[in-house]
Amino acid sequence: MNMNSYLVDLQCSRCEARYSADQIQNLCVCGAPLLARYDLQRISRDVSRDEFSYRAHSLWRFKELLPVRNPENIVTLHEGFSPLISSNVLGESIGLKQLYFKDESVNPTGSFKARGLGVAVSKAKELGIEEIALPTAGNAGGAAAAYAARAGMKCHVFMPQDTPPIFAEECKAYGADVRMVDGFITTAGSLMMSELREKGWFNVSTLKEPYRVEGKKTILYELAQQFNWDLPDTILFPTGGGTGIVGAWKAMQELRSLGWISRSKMPRLFAVQAAGCAPIVEAYEKGADSAGEIENPHTFASGLRVPKAVGDFLVLRAVRESGGAAVSVSDESIRDAWMEMARREGFYVAPEAAAAWAALKDLLRNDIVHKSDRIVIVVTGSGLKYAI
Ligand SMILES: *Cc1c(COP(=O)(O)O)cnc(C)c1O
Ligand SMILES: [Zn+2]
Repeated sequence: MNMNSYLVDLQCSRCEARYSADQIQNLCVCGAPLLARYDLQRISRDVSRDEFSYRAHSLWRFKELLPVRNPENIVTLHEGFSPLISSNVLGESIGLKQLYFKDESVNPTGSFKARGLGVAVSKAKELGIEEIALPTAGNAGGAAAAYAARAGMKCHVFMPQDTPPIFAEECKAYGADVRMVDGFITTAGSLMMSELREKGWFNVSTLKEPYRVEGKKTILYELAQQFNWDLPDTILFPTGGGTGIVGAWKAMQELRSLGWISRSKMPRLFAVQAAGCAPIVEAYEKGADSAGEIENPHTFASGLRVPKAVGDFLVLRAVRESGGAAVSVSDESIRDAWMEMARREGFYVAPEAAAAWAALKDLLRNDIVHKSDRIVIVVTGSGLKYAI
């Protein structure tokens, strides 16, 4: 058996305390997320970046940089390896020369949540976990339930009552225990916690276990490969809990240490939120290091309806240190952008992703990004579950 020994340990993203990666872990005692560390020096010695081209068509091609030790524990539905699609019309319509979409809608369960939960469930299996639980604004529930089904685990999903009904139906189809909660994802989270403690379920909430972010970071590895190890200038991430953008930021640090990137300049990361629920944007504009809680969050882009995120300070760090920004757009402009992407580009995306297209137009108008930039919008999911 070819065991993966590159995973070293887990490190707290705030106080830097170390934890074993071979035991079950959630947050640090200080309350901050734990992030996996790898022996990057040894990886760069043992693996050439060109090798990845000849490997499996899933995120597991980057297995040295993923946390599963024994490949027999990998629970896969072929997540990742998503296409990079060049814009035909939209980019040009606002004068951009190089606009691309990283199309995550092709993932199992229709969103990039499959990356995170595919890796988290695999590692949970390796650690002997049999029951997982999470609160969800929609897509995370379906992905968790699907991978749990495949792994033979029990999955408990806590979902705000006004989440589009298809999300609950999907989870039930995978055999999950689904609870509809009167309130927002934060309320769903606290309800879950009281039962979880009692019943000993494993908490796979966003950034409250260390491995969903590992799955999500592979978006950046794929982009590096797709751009021939020359990363784009700008990447826009629709941002709720923040695993996507935090994963990208982490992957950028790793790629730099690995020496696999052909230039020193790293992409600017932009977090895009909905105006009705933009805690990260508020904190960004105030110059704060962490975000407050939004009291009455509202947006029809349900994946962005996260009024408080445990990794808020990491999202803020990612946008600031990469020279990007956190920006918000109104539901009205999300709706227009959504229909525009479908009509003009043939792309029926999740409204969260349309928010990024709406934001990009503002950023260009305000001269924050430039016409000659090479820009990627992360199309985080498919529009089909949102059909009205
Ligand atoms: C969850 C989700 C997001 C937000 O992603 P985070 O990584 O939690 O910030 C954006 N778009 C879609 C479609 C989602 O399901
Ligand atoms: Zn800590």
